[in-house]
Amino acid sequence: MAHLLFKDINKVYPNGFHAVHDFNLEIQDGEFICLVGSSGCGKSTTLRMVAGLEDITAGEFYIDGKLANQMSSRDRGIAMVFQSYALYPHLTVYENLAFGLTLEGIDADVIEEKVQATAKILGLTEYLERFPRALSGGQCQRVAVGRALIRKVNIFLMDEPLSNLDAKQRVTMRSEIKQIHRSVGATTIYVTHDQTEAMTMSDRIVVMNAGRIQQVGTPYELYFYPQNLFVAGFIGEPPMNFIRGTVEGGHLKTSALDLDLAPIVKDIKAIEGKQVVFAFRPEAIEVDYKGKDKYDIDSQVDLTELLGDTTNVYANVGDVNVILKINPHNTPEMGAQFKFAVPYKAAYLFDSETELVIESNQKRH
Ligand code: ADP
Repeated sequence: MAHLLFKDINKVYPNGFHAVHDFNLEIQDGEFICLVGSSGCGKSTTLRMVAGLEDITAGEFYIDGKLANQMSSRDRGIAMVFQSYALYPHLTVYENLAFGLTLEGIDADVIEEKVQATAKILGLTEYLERFPRALSGGQCQRVAVGRALIRKVNIFLMDEPLSNLDAKQRVTMRSEIKQIHRSVGATTIYVTHDQTEAMTMSDRIVVMNAGRIQQVGTPYELYFYPQNLFVAGFIGEPPMNFIRGTVEGGHLKTSALDLDLAPIVKDIKAIEGKQVVFAFRPEAIEVDYKGKDKYDIDSQVDLTELLGDTTNVYANVGDVNVILKINPHNTPEMGAQFKFAVPYKAAYLFDSETELVIESNQKRH
């Protein structure tokens, strides 16, 4: 296991492109960290700097308290799994797993022991004599993970390892990777653009946008306490609803709404006159809410999608489109008026200009 520390890490590529800005993060021994964000936000660049495959332009990177900026890849105690699992097609699963160890000149009986132990962790024991062409995508990815695991490293780096798999295999591999992490315990950094993967696998998530960290937190913290509009919109599927308006006399005013903000804002005077974004998650709305601590909102239904466990309702609040998740037994007709409640504890407010969350006086549960 290893402890990692990033201090003001920056990456400027030789062509002048500034891919990572002032990246600061401490990763504890054995943590599972996901870097998540849209394509091009600097996730892989960060991972490659950890691996020593990319120079760090400025800042300090420490492994177990040792400055590692100039440390060679080989000395970092790292194994990496990429999106393309690139197994050797002419070698069996056994030989693929053993390949790196054979090159290092390790004794055959030690290799045998390690291959068997790794195959056992990954459920590959019965496939050891097979060639990659006779394996499913998920099994191939497991072999790729096995090749990294077999080397007993302290740091495990994964770059979109599941993106070549179909949806079902991805779900299975997600829990397998979690279990492997639990049994092996190596500090893990996992790169993905998929927020569901990040939410389900991580101890903590680092949300990135345009080369900058937006927020670091547990899945719970990011979902219930997003610090800015980007994180609020990125985490959660379907995404959070945003309704823009102005604060007048302590009320949110839009073409369709007039909501008293006092119950959900700590310092109501501080936001008077500001442009704000009123926000709530599709799944946080209520249809038969009995309490008084809520906003009642009228909408008109555009379209409904019955998913089985829920119905997605696409509706308009004035001229704003919103998505609502409701009980499928209460699915409204298209075109109907649809009244719903947003409990105060599920309502968020963001400053339109700074995009930062405005401090709430509500507990989220
Ligand atoms: P992500 O992994 O989040 O998709 P990357 O870290 O791969 O993003 O890339 C971040 C940004 O850096 C992108 O805009 C990409 O085009 C740019 N980039 C990546 N590699 C290079 C390079 N060798 N030279 C110049 N720009 C690069």
